[in-house]
Amino acid sequence: MFSLNILPKLTAQPLHGLKRTVIMAVFDAFLASVPFAFLYQIILNMLSTTPDMTFQFMMVGGCAVFMILRIFIARYIYISINLIGFDAGRKIRRRLGDHLRKMPMGFFQETDFGSVNNTLLKDIDLIERIFTHIYAPLIATISILIFFAIGLSITNWRLGMAMMSTLPFAVMAYLLTRQYARKWQDRMQRLIHGLNDAIIEYMDGLKILKSHRMTGQAFTKLDDLLKKTRQQALNAEKAAVLPVYSFNLLVESGFIILLLAMTWSWTGGTLSIPQMILFLIASLRFFKPLLSLSMFLAELNYMDLAARRVDKILHLPTLPQGTSQPELKDISVSFENISFGYSKTVLFSGLNLTIPQNKVTALVGPSGAGKSTIASLVARFWEPQKGRILVGTGKDRLDISTMELEYWLHHISIVFQTSYIFNDTITNNLKVAKPDATDTELKNVCNQAQLGSLIADLPLGMDTEVGAGGIHLSGGEMQRLAIARSLLKDAPFIILDEATASLDPENERDIQLAMQNLIQNKTVLVIAHKLTTICHADQIIVLEQGNIAEQGNHEQLMAKKGLYHELWSLQESSKSWSIK
Ligand code: ADP
Repeated sequence: MFSLNILPKLTAQPLHGLKRTVIMAVFDAFLASVPFAFLYQIILNMLSTTPDMTFQFMMVGGCAVFMILRIFIARYIYISINLIGFDAGRKIRRRLGDHLRKMPMGFFQETDFGSVNNTLLKDIDLIERIFTHIYAPLIATISILIFFAIGLSITNWRLGMAMMSTLPFAVMAYLLTRQYARKWQDRMQRLIHGLNDAIIEYMDGLKILKSHRMTGQAFTKLDDLLKKTRQQALNAEKAAVLPVYSFNLLVESGFIILLLAMTWSWTGGTLSIPQMILFLIASLRFFKPLLSLSMFLAELNYMDLAARRVDKILHLPTLPQGTSQPELKDISVSFENISFGYSKTVLFSGLNLTIPQNKVTALVGPSGAGKSTIASLVARFWEPQKGRILVGTGKDRLDISTMELEYWLHHISIVFQTSYIFNDTITNNLKVAKPDATDTELKNVCNQAQLGSLIADLPLGMDTEVGAGGIHLSGGEMQRLAIARSLLKDAPFIILDEATASLDPENERDIQLAMQNLIQNKTVLVIAHKLTTICHADQIIVLEQGNIAEQGNHEQLMAKKGLYHELWSLQESSKSWSIK
């Protein structure tokens, strides 16, 4: 249970102003309780044979001063608790973002996206909102109860005890029923995550479903899930109110016990009239915050569940993080006895290969041979189960996992088959790679990426919005924009995942030209799908089921008449293929 310490635990750093706000909330409760002592004096004074009017006005004045003071304190608490909540939300989001950045790609593939999404978007928001709404009132309420319990017990301990007699039972009932409610809430949460996934999947697949006229069939599945969620939501709500109801019922029965105790004390002669009046008034003030306490606890419970989900993500193991940032003079990369497999299957066992500095190394082989996985291991999307990936040559070689991940990635530029373009201007899409790039630099990379004439034709040039919300770019143009981004990053190691989709000849020529500019004087690893584009590579590694079948340059491999020769012949023959 995180309880009231939730936020400092999740942010992993102290929250500025929290202690001061807690003190102010307790002080506020004190100011709310003291007037009851004045009230008791007022009743005593009024019922005395000679009421002292000066004393009377002093007491009433005292109540007024405390009330005014509380207005200022309430304002202070309101502002500071909102600032703390906002600050904490920002810190938790940043911590989660940092943590997710260090996760292996496997996490994003194996975890259901709905639950991570929900935690990132809704849970933190929920924590922030509940915190700002209940934290201060909860502390104030608990403090008021303590002050009242002490004050009233001093006045008449029998009545004080009677008033609080049901409290331990109420707390016990609350804790017992809360376990039951939590089970339902957990079940509900899982269902909501599943529903989110199903909705995302439905929306993603809508195009394909439409083309197969299956939207209705797929929607029936989604609709069934919606109905099931609705029923479960009802059950969860019923379970959620149980702790609140049982707590309230037992607390309120304390008032009945108080009335009984009053009757008994009155007949026994141990209760005076001023005490009776005080207890009747104070009991109303005592039970009201107690009842709201159950609502606060219910909210705290929701906040606690959300905090657990955030905490669970924060405790997922990340990729091993090195701290060093050595100067890398030689960017050759070598795999030393690498063993790796996804889930339970083994893809590489004891793989050795070298990607030499300033040379083009091409990975070829049938689909599923492990080409993309090699690139992913270099980029540390995944971690090898055995062996080391080293950078440099000779005795200066360094294990890349000893370096800070960001620092290593700073040396790598990846051009994927499909490039992600932000809904933003061309300039901002490029500046992702180098935020302080000058206009001349931007213009140069666009020209090198064969985007010059396209940009010249755009209404706002470099400031034209592209992506879903702006001008639509073709697949080839998007890829050239991604190449321009990589050119701007100017990383010494380039990973190219060559496009498989057949582009029109003009686009293909432009992309080839852009790539030629990108790879000049760089260490290049290219995942080749079309062998014609890599026949001038310095080194070609032919993979087959996770093993290196052949290695050499184009001429050497062709002369061998092995797998490469076979793949080459296959591609040559497919050129003449057409739909008749
Ligand atoms: P290639 O790039 O040569 O087509 P990959 O490296 O993509 O080959 O894949 C090698 C093998 O690993 C294939 O059998 C593929 O199904 C499997 N694989 C690739 N990525 C994943 C993944 N994320 N999770 C599980 N298996 C994967």
